[in-house]
Amino acid sequence: MTEHSSEPNIQNAEKEPSLLDKLASLTTIRNIEQFEFSLLKTMAELLEIKEISMYKVRGASSKCTLMVYSSAVSPEKDPETYSFQSHEDYTSEINLPPDIETALKRIKTTGEPYISDKQGQRYSIIYPVFEDNQVNSLLSFELSHALNEKQIQVLANLLGIAHNFRILLDENQRDKLTGLLNRHTFEESILKIQELSLNAGHCCGQQWNSENRRKALDGLGYCLAIMDIDDFKQINDRFGHIIGDEVLLLISYIMKQNFRTRDLLFRFGGEEFVVICRVENEQNAHTVLDRFRRVTADYRFPRVRTVTVSVGATMIKKNHLFATTIIGRADKALYFAKKNGKNQIHFYEDLIRRGYLVEHDKAGTIDFF
Ligand code: GH3
Ligand code: MG
Ligand code: MG
Repeated sequence: MTEHSSEPNIQNAEKEPSLLDKLASLTTIRNIEQFEFSLLKTMAELLEIKEISMYKVRGASSKCTLMVYSSAVSPEKDPETYSFQSHEDYTSEINLPPDIETALKRIKTTGEPYISDKQGQRYSIIYPVFEDNQVNSLLSFELSHALNEKQIQVLANLLGIAHNFRILLDENQRDKLTGLLNRHTFEESILKIQELSLNAGHCCGQQWNSENRRKALDGLGYCLAIMDIDDFKQINDRFGHIIGDEVLLLISYIMKQNFRTRDLLFRFGGEEFVVICRVENEQNAHTVLDRFRRVTADYRFPRVRTVTVSVGATMIKKNHLFATTIIGRADKALYFAKKNGKNQIHFYEDLIRRGYLVEHDKAGTIDFF
């Protein structure tokens, strides 16, 4: 897409059937990340801008998640397929850049989009997205004009529709009690991660040939852990189901506090939780997971007082073909932790190395390289 020095054609948006078409195609997407990426693409097209960034901010935290849409690396393929394969390369967790932080402070007091000083012929615009009266994210882009009333109206309408649609998607993906991702979403996520690894071998777009391919090929990167509350049945029996549910809620709260926003947190079933986290290596994963185990054991639950969890973990490798293989490995490590006295964490790979487990699931793995 090229930029024009004339007024962007968003002025004529309602005359163009493409706006409705765009909305219609957006709402066929059933995954929040794909949806957000497509939303950025739609905005970029409507405003005729080359690149648009979305900074998702979290309360008072200095961290944010950044998603970037750039027409310069936009594929010919439809955006759904594209972001499915390469979402990892378009989002990252970063510290809030100073200019965005300044804009955020200003927006919080004025409630208005922030337009930084004109640089040459360009205006740098930071546009807030509100949720529950709080700034939830900031859209950052450059234009040759300051946004006019009409453009702001169209942008606000688009964001309003997007907000409602996101709520619907979110409800589908989340567990009602804890707000964590549900089991259905887990199955989709694990497929996505495997897809990322498998595609790395015979990849598609140009940008996959270098940096992204290298990243996917490093073989490490993701760890999957199952966390199971110890003696939860006794908690229910002694204190009742309502207090049991409160424990589930507080455990999910501890999880949200302990893991990074990029880590995927699931309630897998009753009192079992799963986390898929991006890690450098097994040692790094061990540190992160054991910190969660320790924090849980040290937490004083209002009525039950002490609750512990056992954790079984495994690294997701590029030659794991089946989700069941990955889950099976973590489950074996979890079983070992339970048998061995609970309130502990074990890695499948470590148990194999130490001879406590024998590898039976070779059939579930295929070497691609
Ligand atoms: P272990 O240490 O071996 O994991 O023992 P446990 O008692 O935690 O494990 P078990 O699987 O025997 O029991 C899990 C219990 O979790 C049984 C079930 O009644 C309870 N449970 C499952 N879902 C829920 C829920 O949504 N709320 C509450 N309160 N309890 C639940
Ligand atoms: Mg259980
Ligand atoms: Mg249990």
